[in-house]
Amino acid sequence: MKCKRCKAPAQVELRQHNAGFCRSCFIFYFQRQVERAIAKERMFTPDEAVLVAVSGGKDSLGLWDVLIALGYRTTGLHLSLGIGEYSDLSTAKTVAFATQRDLPLITVSLADEGLAVPDITRLTRRPACSACGTMKRHYFDQLAIDRGFPVVATGHNLDDEAARLLGNVLHWQMEHLARQQPVLEPTHARFVRKVKPLYRCSEYEAAVYAFFRGIDYIVDECPNAAGATQLVYKDMLNRLEAVSPGSKLIFVQEFLSTARPALTPEDREPPQTCAACERPSYGALCSFCRLVRETQTRRERRRAAERA
Ligand code: AMP
Ligand code: ZN
Repeated sequence: MKCKRCKAPAQVELRQHNAGFCRSCFIFYFQRQVERAIAKERMFTPDEAVLVAVSGGKDSLGLWDVLIALGYRTTGLHLSLGIGEYSDLSTAKTVAFATQRDLPLITVSLADEGLAVPDITRLTRRPACSACGTMKRHYFDQLAIDRGFPVVATGHNLDDEAARLLGNVLHWQMEHLARQQPVLEPTHARFVRKVKPLYRCSEYEAAVYAFFRGIDYIVDECPNAAGATQLVYKDMLNRLEAVSPGSKLIFVQEFLSTARPALTPEDREPPQTCAACERPSYGALCSFCRLVRETQTRRERRRAAERA
């Protein structure tokens, strides 16, 4: 197979596009895809400072690399989640990436805040992924607002979006479907815009990009994700993709262009205001502040019991 752009021998084949690319043309193609997604969906402009949420994985480090190459003003934001060796390695890879390229990076250690994910899970008995999601959402908005970033970009790729779409469709979660978009505008003064510039790039393409660019990333999945339904959906979609290349892209693309506009998100936030952080909430406290309080209270109770 030959490279679609320069006719040199192809080094990667993209069956969903029925095309092959050599190394340098693939890099060009991948960056162009991201650039087009940003422009088409009006994610952000070159004047806006972008906070890039980086986990240390191939998607988010690859995204950061592309945004730099495209000339955007970026700062990285990494949350060190405190999930043992997995988190230590993710943080090390992220810090090394930023240091080698002399990029600004904000790192927040949840353990330093007394909120390491395993501690929250143990103390409050919440499922790890739900606690982790609450932490990420909170810190992404909080840091962006504190530091004056109008937008947070994440590395969610086509496979993530297709799996999420499948889950939402299987359960007909209309409200979630209405909000499944590559750009989410803030609905409250304490939230910022969230964008997913890699939403049309497959996980395979993101892996190839990271490899061709020599990006050193963490390969391991989060230990908490093992057995997650999301991985079962991804596996199913990959089997479909193998017999019918392009299925994932069509599934997501057609949802966004055809079905999504017919859904109207109930554009309302929870009716109350959190007494601690002033974000929208369903009770006196928002889900983040409730989780923090609960963790603190149970930790104190446990310490008191140990002393007694
Ligand atoms: P995941 O939910 O792990 O698939 O991650 C989706 C996206 O969220 C990643 O591509 C990152 O942009 C962001 N993200 C995940 N974990 C972290 C983290 N620990 N720190 C900063 N951003 C993260
Ligand atoms: Zn709150």
